[in-house]
Amino acid sequence: MNSLVQDNITHLIIMNLSKQIILLEKLTGKKVILEPTLSIEEGEGQLSEQDLDMLKKFISYCLDRLDIHEMPVIQLTVKRAEGSTTGGYVPNDNFIVTYTKGRHILDVSRTIAHELKHVDQVQNDRLEVDDEDSAESPSEIEATVFAAKIMRDFSKEFPEIYRESLKRKKRLLK
Ligand SMILES: [Zn+2]
Repeated sequence: MNSLVQDNITHLIIMNLSKQIILLEKLTGKKVILEPTLSIEEGEGQLSEQDLDMLKKFISYCLDRLDIHEMPVIQLTVKRAEGSTTGGYVPNDNFIVTYTKGRHILDVSRTIAHELKHVDQVQNDRLEVDDEDSAESPSEIEATVFAAKIMRDFSKEFPEIYRESLKRKKRLLK
């Protein structure tokens, strides 16, 4: 790719594989472990390569425990829209957005797990749209509980999610 073109690219979009996966599942009759579909916005405050590798592993770990038929695009953004929270899900576009700047990978991971649970709820007709905004709605509680549990399980299985960030902290303090 020529460098002029590369300079103009702000989003790296990895091709959505959901259609191929569905086809493969039909052909083989087996559940395919989904690969995360990430759109990574370049810029200051984006996750490091190491953290991104860990995050991909985490997303696959979540997908393995959810019933998602159509893989959403997960955007990692460094530009927070005014008044927006740490993340959100747009069901009509099957699109998750997560703010990464200045946030620890554990927080980013928790946000993504929460939103992925909403994807599961929508794709299995279990999200009560009226309750979307209420922190006490059953769908919201379910997403929060799912995220908490999966964070606990994943960090038990892959404690390096803590170690990597500790190393980075030490480097920064020098
Ligand atoms: Zn929610």
